[in-house]
Amino acid sequence: MSHAGVTRGAARVRFARMKDTWPLLDKIPFPAIARGRLETLQVNVGYRCNQSCVHCHVNAGPNRTEEMDATTADLVIDFLERRRIATLDITGGAPELNANFRRMVSAARGMAVKVMVRHNLTVQEQPAQEDLAEFLAVNQVEVVASMPCYLQDNVDKQRGKGVYDGSVRGLRRLNALGYGREGSGLTLNLVYNPLGPSLPPPQLELEADYKRVLGERFGIVFNSLFTLANMPIHRFGAILLSQGQFDLYLDTLQHAYRDDNLAGVMCRNLLSVDYRGYVYDCDFNQMLDLPLTHGGRERVHLLDLLSEDITGNPIRVAGHCFGCTAGQGSSCGGALKEAAE
Ligand code: SF4
Ligand code: SF4
Repeated sequence: MSHAGVTRGAARVRFARMKDTWPLLDKIPFPAIARGRLETLQVNVGYRCNQSCVHCHVNAGPNRTEEMDATTADLVIDFLERRRIATLDITGGAPELNANFRRMVSAARGMAVKVMVRHNLTVQEQPAQEDLAEFLAVNQVEVVASMPCYLQDNVDKQRGKGVYDGSVRGLRRLNALGYGREGSGLTLNLVYNPLGPSLPPPQLELEADYKRVLGERFGIVFNSLFTLANMPIHRFGAILLSQGQFDLYLDTLQHAYRDDNLAGVMCRNLLSVDYRGYVYDCDFNQMLDLPLTHGGRERVHLLDLLSEDITGNPIRVAGHCFGCTAGQGSSCGGALKEAAE
């Protein structure tokens, strides 16, 4: 496996035409935090996606070519086994489009590792994905599906024309297999994020609205709704800058900071891996190209951590971290308390 050819900032060069919020975020202090016990390996298998959503913090889209290869996927499987990881959380892009996706899922399930996938619903209608929903169900993969609103206009505005209808069809397919239904053992959680630079409303109230509207209109059921604040980075960050709303949004996040949420941020127990195998404290840091710092290395690779424990390692924090501690807390699992259950 090659570690060569990667320079810090390479990711940023790719987005050079887009206004970058990092120089501003870097100047904002955030309380020091350290890593706890490693429980979840969050693997980003690449940035190819069948959608190009406005808020996407990954800048994913159909033209992105970065993809995890088979060697790195093998290393992920080896790491799960050797480090006895409890949960594999697979993300992208649309992770299902990666050629190694199904192999990784099957291997992890064979080791009784819980598997979650960040799923955009419309990927079920991509070529060669006709049996995707069945594959997820057979392997009891927990599905975390984006559904930024229960209203068609809002979803299509944020995620693209036709995405709402495609998402509804995807949810119905999952429901038909038992997902979201009591006693099935198949978990279907939805994710909401606001359209613009505002905090998400309280999770439980919004979840009740979603359940009522999606149930009445389409007979759709699901387990929980996670509400996430948009991260002021990449595509959404560039929009904030171009509309002169960056400072206002950061103020909103900072004013909504809650000390209690600091203990539950996902970076304490999660390790984020990029498609090349390099590691970060979280997916947001991965997208900002802020590698995990350890042992004086410029970059740490998953290979380096096969037998090395990084409990207690300082976490790389900056202004974007206020996106995880605002309001009721919205690190990648949604409101932190519910996510811990
Ligand atoms: S579906 Fe997800 S990964 Fe794909 S563009 Fe939208 S937010 Fe990004
Ligand atoms: S963005 Fe959130 S998850 Fe990432 S390092 Fe900051 S607090 Fe942790």
